[in-house]
Amino acid sequence: IRALYIGRFQPYHNGHQYVIDHIAKEADELIIGIGTAQLSHEPADPFTAGERILMITRALQKIQKPVYVIPLEDINRNALWVSHVRAMTPPFDRVYSGNPLVIRLFFEAGIRVLTPAMYERGTLSGTTIRERMVCGDNWEDLVPVPVCQVIREIDGVSRILVLARDDM
Ligand code: ATP
Ligand code: MG
Repeated sequence: IRALYIGRFQPYHNGHQYVIDHIAKEADELIIGIGTAQLSHEPADPFTAGERILMITRALQKIQKPVYVIPLEDINRNALWVSHVRAMTPPFDRVYSGNPLVIRLFFEAGIRVLTPAMYERGTLSGTTIRERMVCGDNWEDLVPVPVCQVIREIDGVSRILVLARDDM
């Protein structure tokens, strides 16, 4: 079984890691699709696709199965989106997603979709983590250690602080 999991991963956090550890038990190979890959340097999308590839690849180093991390740019045409995804990824047998639109689009294309349970969604969300970075609150405990290291290497928190500022 080759499974696909799609997210924006802004940033990749412990909730994503929890889901992927679960998927890795059920699948033989994992495809991680990085959604909205074209955006970066925006408050809700601060990190580039390349930076997100680095976070995910390092965080998944312990998984003993093939992992393909693939950037997916938005095409802004939902009716064609599943074909776009299929053109960019290795063939897959099933999709894991909690996003209602993603679930619906794959369902309409006849592809099996499974919805993993949410894990500590109160704190484990990209939005919460980005807000904490802006406020100077603790966010490091909400992401895998390798992700923390990548964000430090690219000086990610100062980038997010700049993106949160108004014109001077
Ligand atoms: P944002 O707040 O920026 O939307 P997010 O935490 O929702 O970030 P996404 O990249 O949008 O992260 O999510 C990718 C996938 O991971 C989605 O299917 C989402 O439902 C799932 N997901 C996000 N957080 C959790 C969590 N804490 N537990 C389980 N699944 C999660
Ligand atoms: Mg989300």
